[in-house]
Parts: sequence; C-alpha cells; structure tokens
Amino acid sequence: MISLERRLFCLWIFYKYMQRKIGQNRKEWYDYMKRLIYLDHAATTQPFPEVLDAMIPYYSRYYGNPSSGYELGEESKRAIETARGQIAYTLGVEDDTIYFTSGGTESDNWALRYAVQNGKRRRPHIVTSSIEHHAILNTCKNLEKQGVRVTYLPVNKEGTVQPEMVERAIISDTVLVSVMYANNEIGSIQPIRQIGQITHRKQVLFHTDAVQAYGQIPIHVKEDHIDLLSASGHKFNGPKGTGFLYARKGLKLQPMIHGGGQERKMRAGTENVPGIVGIGRAAVCSAAILEKKMAYESRLRDYFIRRLLEEIPGSSINGDRRNRLPNNVNISIAGVNGPAVVALLDLEGICVSSASACSTGEQKASHVQLAIGNDGHQAYEAIRFTLGIQNTPEELDDTVEVLKQCVKKIEGLQKNDLGVKTPKSHVRS
Ligand code: PLP
Repeated sequence: MISLERRLFCLWIFYKYMQRKIGQNRKEWYDYMKRLIYLDHAATTQPFPEVLDAMIPYYSRYYGNPSSGYELGEESKRAIETARGQIAYTLGVEDDTIYFTSGGTESDNWALRYAVQNGKRRRPHIVTSSIEHHAILNTCKNLEKQGVRVTYLPVNKEGTVQPEMVERAIISDTVLVSVMYANNEIGSIQPIRQIGQITHRKQVLFHTDAVQAYGQIPIHVKEDHIDLLSASGHKFNGPKGTGFLYARKGLKLQPMIHGGGQERKMRAGTENVPGIVGIGRAAVCSAAILEKKMAYESRLRDYFIRRLLEEIPGSSINGDRRNRLPNNVNISIAGVNGPAVVALLDLEGICVSSASACSTGEQKASHVQLAIGNDGHQAYEAIRFTLGIQNTPEELDDTVEVLKQCVKKIEGLQKNDLGVKTPKSHVRS
C-alpha cells in the first residue's frame, strides 16, 4: 500500500502539472517545443518526414476506396500492396503473411484469440511471461474468464524469461507460447531463438510481441521459428493507429473483425490507406538506418548510464546491462518518487516516463518492476528514458544536470514539506 503522504505528494505534482498545462498558449507552446528534450521514444516516435510526404497524397489526391473497381480505387489498392511488400521485405517473409491492423494492441489480441480458436482444445492453455505489455496480459485475463488457462512465467533479476521454464510449462493443451521480443519498460531482449526452437520442437505456436523491437534491432522471423509477430507503426517513426500482424505461411488465420472482405477477408473495414502507406515507408526508412541507429543509440545509452550512475547518488539500473534495447535506460533513484521526477522534468521541457501511472492520485506499481524483484517502494522509483537517433550527447548532459536539481527538490519536499522520511530499508547503495 502506498502511504498517504506519497499520495498527497503525487496529487500536488499532478495539480502543478495541470496548472501549467492549462495556462499554455501558442507562444508558450513554441518556446516549449524549442527547448523540448524528447526521451520517450518507447512511448511514441515522431514520424519521419518521408513518411508524412508519402502519406499526404493519399489524403488529398488519391482518396479512392481500395475496394472500388475504378482507377482511383485501384491506386489506393496498389499503395496498400506496396506497403505490404515493404514490410515483408524488412522481415524476409512473403507479402501475403502481413496483415494490417490498427496497432500493437489489435495485433496481440488477434494472435492470442486466433491461437485459442485454432487449438481446438476443451481447455486451451497459453504460456506467456509476467512482464508482457497489458495488450497481452489483459487479453489473457479476458481469455481466462472464457475458460482458457494461462501460465505467467516469472523472469530473473535482469528481466529475462528462462527458455527451460518455457519448455517445462508446455503441456499437451498448450496452444500458444507468447513472449515479447523486448520489454517496453526495462528494454530486456528475450531469448527468442531458444524459445522458438523449443516451440518448434514441441509443435506449439509461437507469438512474439515485437512492438518495441521492430525497427530497433534485427529480427529473424524464420530462423527464430516465429509463427506470429505483432508490431506498431508509431514506435518506429510511422503513424499512430497503424500496425501489422505477421502470420506464418500455412497458418489458417481467422478474422477477429467481421464485415467486408478487406485484408483477404481477414480484417473487415475500409483500410486506413494513408496510414498503411506511412507504416510501409517507415519500415523501409527504419531498415535503411538500423545499423547506424543501433550503434549511435547504444553509445549514447552507455554514456548516459555512466553519467547517471556516477553523478546521481542512490541510482541503479533496472534490467539487463548488456542484453537490452540500444535506446533503453531505466533507472531507480533510492527514496525518490518516479512520477514526481517525471512531472518536474516535464516542467523543464524534458519528456521521460515513469513505470507507474499517477492520474487520480492513485499509483499502481509497475508489474515489470515487481517481476524483476523490486519491492513495492522501489517499483515507484523507476524512471524510463528511451533515446532516439535525433538525441544528442548535449541533451543528455542537460538532462543529467536538470535531473540532479529535480532529485534535490523532491528529497527536500519529501523530508520537509510533507514529513515523508525515506525508510532505512528503502535506501540502496
Ligand atoms: N506491446 C508493447 C510491448 C508495447 O510497448 C505497446 C505500446 O506501448 C503495445 C504492445 C501496444 O501498441 P499500440 O499502442 O500500437 O496499440
């Protein structure tokens, strides 16, 4: 349970934050954008200019319905197929294995529900991990209400699923193993190839939520024996509300949305043509810069981690030090409330994210932080910085300096104004 003082503190920060937001006008917005340091690329990314350029004609000139038989509609249809080919190319798979969706959440839902239907067991069983995104966890909860059994595998301190545990969890009724490619909070990259080898050997479908991995690190669908894969356009500089599901050739995918015959009768509804054009272009652009981006971001990440650990007392890194996404830095500062840091950094024009939500004064500890063994207090201390190719070392230097000030302010407030004392057990070296 979170203490009353902490709730009050969170409310106070939220109040200040809302005051600030309401008072914003155009000029303030311009100034804000000028000094903005965006370090939340796991939340979303800015679309590449090429993506916007590619999309605009499909809002203006080529507005035809892809299902219409005349030339204007045909142009939209061709654009969709080009985008499908672009995504398939980046994964080294056949074009007709890619289905466009509204994003990662829909793709995850589709994969899980399809596996349950397809498995034809009286009590189907799914194996997943305890650190999945809510798009998976809440779908599993919903499926449990319908009689599906779910095993949530624990992870080690680094936030990694152990392949031997996956093997042991599979039973004769298992219809799917779903393990994310990389975690959205702590960036830990999962042993996908080993898990794929196990599911392949045991003839169980393997789905991976690659929302945080696609466009960030190389993905080898065939070598990793991945049957189903989810991705989301806005995580790799594409438009929001776009995504795709890869379903291996030979799988008899079932529609989740019923209606017209779009997406080869698998996903009804008039296609989001500009969005699909945008996600296709984003896929190609991301693939073209992947190696350069990985090298640059991992250098920035390591530099940032080193400075944080050296200069912020009580800071520690969450997640695997080596086997993590090139752009992920997740730290905890002992005794310092994460959402409060996020709110204060926001006032300075720095966008980061905490592992817990503080909206109605009610904080909920991150399931990922708890899964890696952080206790209730520590789970509220986590702060996630996710870097992008546009970030510079100077921006990170500024962030470290501002962060030091924020930590001082919070420690002062916690001790003096609200009388919140950091419990001894809570102070980590
Ligand atoms: N899966 C993971 C790992 C994510 O990080 C997210 C979004 O943050 C999603 C799924 C949901 O994706 P979308 O926002 O496209 O629905």
